[in-house]
Amino acid sequence: QSEIRLENVSFRYLPNVPVLEDVSMRLRKGRLHVLVGPSGAGKSTVGDLLVRFFDVHAGKITVDGENIRDFSLSDLRSMIAVVEQTPYLFHASVRENIAYAHPEATISQIHEAARQAGIHEFLQRLPERYETMIGERGSTLSVGERQRIALARALLRDPQVLVLDEPTSALDPEAEAIVTDELTNNLRGRTTLVITHRASLVHAADYVFVLSGGRIIQEGAPHALPQGD
Ligand code: ADP
Ligand code: ADP
Repeated sequence: QSEIRLENVSFRYLPNVPVLEDVSMRLRKGRLHVLVGPSGAGKSTVGDLLVRFFDVHAGKITVDGENIRDFSLSDLRSMIAVVEQTPYLFHASVRENIAYAHPEATISQIHEAARQAGIHEFLQRLPERYETMIGERGSTLSVGERQRIALARALLRDPQVLVLDEPTSALDPEAEAIVTDELTNNLRGRTTLVITHRASLVHAADYVFVLSGGRIIQEGAPHALPQGD
């Protein structure tokens, strides 16, 4: 388990267009954090900075006190796993997609990762089935299922820190409630950051950060935050 800190982080993609401004966050060991805010607030950018798709322009990010610039990218990305909003799946079976880049994974490790991601039954049902990409005729995988395959893939690496980017954005409220419950139960105990624009996910969190216009405008335990969308 690791603790992450963002300290006074600023970032922009384009000159004179700040995207994150003086953002400080602490992700405590083993806790579930939610980063919530409107579309365009800069939430996904926080995830991108954690795994150094981009480097901060000011401030720093540390893992257990060590600047993430001091790790190799491969070490950093095995410590911190980001599950993308629209994960890329290969033309291969569900099982192969989970085990991608982990040829050494045993069947029981794959099943354990699938169980934690809430797709164990699904893996049993379709382990060797070739599934087509979304939108193609005959695809039986929903966006939510694809995200959970990507989650199982991330869990197989047993990362210290897990970042889930909009894990329920493609789901209706009912499916969202089930997934939220399942994920927060199964994923408890790992340092986790859930990125979402949905206020409904906030209640599952140990600690919430509200990002708006590139700044943290509120933070606290969910019950301590003012109500409202
Ligand atoms: P410390 O372990 O640094 O002494 P405490 O447990 O005393 O921290 O908590 C200090 C404050 O930080 C409390 O108000 C607590 O609600 C708040 N807090 C809890 N979780 C987090 C978090 N993930 N990031 C930042 N502050 C948090
Ligand atoms: P959120 O996840 O909260 O919706 P993002 O972090 O995706 O927000 O985006 C924050 C801002 O940065 C938006 O204004 C977005 O248009 C801009 N942005 C995101 N990615 C890029 C990029 N690669 N190049 C330029 N601007 C970007």
